[in-house]
Amino acid sequence: MTVTGLSCKECGTEYPLEALYVCDRCFGPLEVGYDHAGIDAGSARRRIQAGSSGIWRYADFLPFASPPTSAIEPGLTPLVRADRLAEQLGVGEVWIKNDAANPTHSFKDRVVAVALAKALELGFDTVACASTGNLANAVAAHAAAAGIDSYVFVPANLEEQKLLATGVYGTTLVGVEGNYDDVNRLCTELAAERGWAFVNVNVRPYYAEGSKTLAYETVEQLGWRLPDRVVCPIASGSLFTKIGRGFEEWRSLGLVAGGLPIFHGAQAAGCGPVAAAFADGDDVCRPVRPDTIAKSLAIGDPADGPYALDLARTSGGSIDAVSDDEIRAGIRLLAETTGIFTETAGGVTAATLAKLADRGEIGADDSVVVYITGEGLKTLDAVREGFAMHEIEPTLESFAAHVPERGAVAAPALTRMI
Ligand SMILES: *Cc1c(COP(=O)(O)O)cnc(C)c1O
Ligand SMILES: [Zn+2]
Repeated sequence: MTVTGLSCKECGTEYPLEALYVCDRCFGPLEVGYDHAGIDAGSARRRIQAGSSGIWRYADFLPFASPPTSAIEPGLTPLVRADRLAEQLGVGEVWIKNDAANPTHSFKDRVVAVALAKALELGFDTVACASTGNLANAVAAHAAAAGIDSYVFVPANLEEQKLLATGVYGTTLVGVEGNYDDVNRLCTELAAERGWAFVNVNVRPYYAEGSKTLAYETVEQLGWRLPDRVVCPIASGSLFTKIGRGFEEWRSLGLVAGGLPIFHGAQAAGCGPVAAAFADGDDVCRPVRPDTIAKSLAIGDPADGPYALDLARTSGGSIDAVSDDEIRAGIRLLAETTGIFTETAGGVTAATLAKLADRGEIGADDSVVVYITGEGLKTLDAVREGFAMHEIEPTLESFAAHVPERGAVAAPALTRMI
């Protein structure tokens, strides 16, 4: 597949493959265009299967002339069948795409690997980002691996785990007094005056392409078929819409057959501008001020909100918002039924799946892929004080006295909430 250039999503004006992201004519966002003609599905599939065991196996569908390399290559994360979760919810088939298994433990490694490779191709020597946390980890790590400078801008009140897991890579870490939308505004100004590649600002069209690889992997790992439905978190809406695009591309090229999946979006009630617009029947999102434990989804003014709304509606899906308590319960539900510990964003996704099952919108006849996008160890506060630990002396007597036998009703003494 040949990359043809950038084009405006709104008015179609075309631009060269440079560090551009907004249309001069209408201020619409730019995206990468490809020429699909002449692709043979059989040989495309063989090239994929002969490729690397990460996202660069899909280089033919990404904005590069030849496959890049990464010292820490993301992708091919596990797609695991979650029968115990499916049974508990009364859903036919649930598959968990565990993207916490990427190099810096979130799906952001995919978008950063693509943005950074393109930035190097375009001649940049410094990368930067405005981040809600996971992007910070990924930019700092991939810049370190590539040996280039990085600047990472985050809201100063971010989870400590995410700050530490960024600083360790030796980046220039900047905590901004304000929320993500303030950070993003500052970075838009900086992108115009510094010669840096801000992965999610001036090279955003390339960054966004990285999310398509989640769709490609899903198809490959399901044995070259499409799921009936997907449940996916929404922050800016880029991930959600690009997974849709990935499925569409492969179907139109004949790499996979069947109906396109129904798309269910997941947001936190404390920052749910896309869910609110969906509920109100609006085409655009009214910006909100985030107040949720799901900080990695806390974008109050989502750039791709309108496109996410469109995908949810045209596919016959939905966009839900879940409370912080539901998010905590979602984390526990996933951990207890699948052995996968996710961060708050994954709690949003799991809670939304549970809600859809509860409403009967997803049922016994459905096969659902659930995108778990980040790691639980990064948001430990979300499970703090959630369960008890028995505290005993190192003797059999103490164990017998304090830890009740399975099914026993005796109140355990000496426990501590952790
Ligand atoms: C960034 C992020 C998302 C979604 O990002 P979009 O801006 O909608 O592309 C989802 N989950 C996690 C854990 C994230 O860090
Ligand atoms: Zn335009």
